[in-house]
Amino acid sequence: MTILVCGGAGYIGSHTVKELIGNYEVVVLDNLSTGYPFLLDDNVTFVNGDLGDEEVLDFVFTTYKIDAVFHFAANSLVGESVEKPLMYYGNNVSSTLTLLKKMVEHGVGKFIFSSTAATYGIPNKEIITEETATNPINPYGRSKLMVEHILADVAHAHNLQYVVLRYFNAAGAHETGVIGESHDPESHLIPIILQHLLGQRDQISVFGTDYNTADGTCVRDYIHVTDLANAHVLAYEGLNSGKVSNEVYNLGNGAGYSVKEVIEACEHVSGKSAVVKYVDRRPGDPAVLVASSEKIYKALSWKPKFQLVEIIESAWRWHSKQ
Ligand code: UDP
Repeated sequence: MTILVCGGAGYIGSHTVKELIGNYEVVVLDNLSTGYPFLLDDNVTFVNGDLGDEEVLDFVFTTYKIDAVFHFAANSLVGESVEKPLMYYGNNVSSTLTLLKKMVEHGVGKFIFSSTAATYGIPNKEIITEETATNPINPYGRSKLMVEHILADVAHAHNLQYVVLRYFNAAGAHETGVIGESHDPESHLIPIILQHLLGQRDQISVFGTDYNTADGTCVRDYIHVTDLANAHVLAYEGLNSGKVSNEVYNLGNGAGYSVKEVIEACEHVSGKSAVVKYVDRRPGDPAVLVASSEKIYKALSWKPKFQLVEIIESAWRWHSKQ
């Protein structure tokens, strides 16, 4: 079986490749716009190209016998999406349409799609199930939800089956320490705290202390990138065996931690103290985002293995080596 991993040189894509290697042949398609060559596994066939490029897709689908597509290639920063909506709708929606069109043309019928908790916007309840209303509040969340709708329509009309995975806050690094989270510029909480604790940043800014939460800072559900990666493999196997088809699943730990709690956990893991500055809220941040992942547990027995401290420990090992 050969899997095409679009965005396999990115953070979550590269960790998923690690879980596939050994059991599947892997072809990675990545334009390296936000991915890195050092995240590419030696055992993959790498095609440097854009998934909006029909010629590249024709090349991939005619050269390799692709059984399924895992699609991670996307822009994924909320703030950037507000400033550059055309880029987000172009890369996240339009390019995905091209990919789907080429899959249908070449008869490739299995698709695993990276979606996001940002599709829920500011949810009306604290624990989010897949039934919670989707009201994205930024172009990033909207672009992902648009693709979810497109997938339902395409699956209805063509020979395509899909699973949508809505990630909560991906974090952590691979157990081997050879790959981990790397963004430029970095905007995610855990890498920023760890970079500060390693002396690479002067301080940490906490965005908002007046949220309606126990300590006033935002609460998020952090999920290890390897747990996310495993969910993709299970979802694909579930599609193949006919267990699941055309479903949407949340992927989170089901436990919420505030920004202050995450900083304390990072201090504990590193044995170092952080310099913290409290600043205004970051626009577009919901107070609390915590997943119920019951649905994928029931369907595919997926259960996260790593809790917050283990997530931070793995990230600390990776960041300490950079
Ligand atoms: N956050 C923060 N300071 C930072 C980066 C993030 O206080 O330098 C907060 C952010 O406001 C949010 C939480 O940490 O409440 C997680 O943010 P991140 O960007 O990691 O993920 P998001 O929840 O936006 O997907």
